[in-house]
Amino acid sequence: MTIQPKKSLGQHFLKDQNIIRKILDSFQPPDDSACMEIGPGMGALTEHIFERELENFSFVEIDKDAYAFLCEKFPARKDAFINADFLKMDLSEFTSLSLIGNLPYNISSQIIFKILENRQLIDYGVFMVQREVAERFAAQQNTKDYGILSVLLQSFYEVELLFNVSKNVFVPPPKVESSVFRIMRKQTVRFPFSDKYFFSFVKKAFNQRRKMLRKSLQGFVDFSEAPDDIRFFADKRPEQLSKEDFAKIVAYFFKG
Ligand code: SAM
Repeated sequence: MTIQPKKSLGQHFLKDQNIIRKILDSFQPPDDSACMEIGPGMGALTEHIFERELENFSFVEIDKDAYAFLCEKFPARKDAFINADFLKMDLSEFTSLSLIGNLPYNISSQIIFKILENRQLIDYGVFMVQREVAERFAAQQNTKDYGILSVLLQSFYEVELLFNVSKNVFVPPPKVESSVFRIMRKQTVRFPFSDKYFFSFVKKAFNQRRKMLRKSLQGFVDFSEAPDDIRFFADKRPEQLSKEDFAKIVAYFFKG
């Protein structure tokens, strides 16, 4: 039995056993963390997860056909499969969750936003995404790849690019190359501002990334009355600011 890959769900199935092993070797979640695979598909990673006897795992697959396939392929583990949209799942039953997945590339940024929203319970993750996207998540300031998700994700997680993966190891092959990266939540982050304010500040700053903050944030914040160490950033472009610089400016302007 097999399933017909659905492009709309980003279904590119892994077929290379060495790559699958390499992904699982890099997955070292904290002890006692519940684990979840996003998009098990036809079970390429799942099979190895079972073989390694990794415990406390659930598997969330949006596609009914893939879900039925998995239940039939692994009848003894049927209860671990959930037919649901990860983006809509209520994760509040978990206190500590680690994630793994060869992600559907069309929603990889949305998955990262969901992780950020639930970061108090998501400790750790290993993911494969389109290479350019992984490079953006891990990018440092003063590079062209540095953007909204670099700042937001790295403010709360250590982000580490692990290795690149050729498109030839998938069926069907995607148009783009892929990379595997790992995130580990930083333990000590307590910002004195709301996510909503922080996220809109960073988005507005990068929406016009060639402009200085004074211009791109016009009408949102006013640098003219700010002390020197904040006003200093008004003439910078967003990519010149580190994530710590963003946190400092946002803390100054946030009014609760
Ligand atoms: N893990 C398998 C592998 O490596 O061969 C499949 C990976 S494939 C790139 C992505 C999988 O995510 C597909 O099986 C797709 O149906 C599933 N998927 C897409 N959107 C999803 C969502 N919102 N929630 C859960 N699974 C989703």
